[in-house]
Amino acid sequence: MRCGIDIGGTTVKIGLVDNYEIKETIVIETKPETLFDDIFSKINEYKDKIDFIGFGIPGNVKNNYINRMPNIGLSDIDLNLLKKKYNISCDIKSSNDANCAALGEALFDNNNDSSYFITLGTGVGGGYVLDGKVIDGHHVACGEIGHIRIDEKHQYKCTCGLFGCLETVASATGIVRLFNEYYKDYNTNIPCDNVNAKVIFDYAKAGDELGLKVLEEVSEYLGKALAILAVTNDVKTFYIGGGVAECGEFLINRIKNYYLKYSFYACKNTEIKLAKLGNKAGMIGAAYL
Ligand SMILES: [Zn+2]
Repeated sequence: MRCGIDIGGTTVKIGLVDNYEIKETIVIETKPETLFDDIFSKINEYKDKIDFIGFGIPGNVKNNYINRMPNIGLSDIDLNLLKKKYNISCDIKSSNDANCAALGEALFDNNNDSSYFITLGTGVGGGYVLDGKVIDGHHVACGEIGHIRIDEKHQYKCTCGLFGCLETVASATGIVRLFNEYYKDYNTNIPCDNVNAKVIFDYAKAGDELGLKVLEEVSEYLGKALAILAVTNDVKTFYIGGGVAECGEFLINRIKNYYLKYSFYACKNTEIKLAKLGNKAGMIGAAYL
C-alpha cells in the first residue's frame, strides 16, 4: 500500500492508495503548532502496511525540505529529519500540492505522455507531468501558471506583486473582479450580494449578458495562457480542474475556441479536458511521486 498526503489549510487528508485507488482516507485537522507530529504519529499507526509516503505541500518544497507554506504559516521543515525521528524506513517524497494533483489526474487518465493540469480556485495553480513524473523545475516554480502575465487591459495587482497575472482574472476571485468591473456596462440579473464565480457562470449559462461577458473574457485569458504553455511544453493534454471548472463543458468549450484562435499550428489538436478526480487528485498523485 502507498500513502499519499494532501496538506490543506483546514485539514490534512491521508490516503492509503493501492492500484491508483484510495482504499482508506484519514482526515486530521490542520494545527500548525503540531502539524507534522500529528501526521507522522498517524502514519506510524499504518507503518507496517505502507511501502511509500508522498507529501503534497501547499508551498515551496525541494528534496523534502519545505521552504515555506504561506497559508499555514510554517517554514524550514526537513521531512528527512522527521523521517528519522519517527523511524520510518520506507521512501518519502514530496512536491507542491498542485503538482501532486497534476500527477493524480494524469495517472487516472492513463496518460503516460505529458500533460499540464490547471486548477482554477481561489488562485490559479498548475502542474506539469512528463513521462509519469512531476517536473518541479530549477526554482520549483514549474506549474505556477497563475503568474503568466496575460492581461494588458485591467492590470490588476496580483498577490505576487506583479500586475495582470492570469490569477487576477481567471481565479474565482478574479471572476468576481471582472463582474464588478463590467457591472455598470452590461445588462444583468445577477444579484450583487454575495456574488461568486459559480453564480456568475450559472447566470451565464442561462444567457445573462454580463455573465456571458465575464465568461468569454475569462475563457479568452485561459485559452491564450494554454497556447503559451503549448509552445513551451507541447503537452498531449491540458486538464482543467478546481472549483471554477465545475462550470463544466460550457467553460471548456469556450477555452477550446480561444485556444484554437491563439495556438501554434502544430499544437492545434492538444486535448483540453475537465479534470475528473476533484479533491482526491492530490492524495493519489502524492502516493505516486
Ligand atoms: Zn502573480
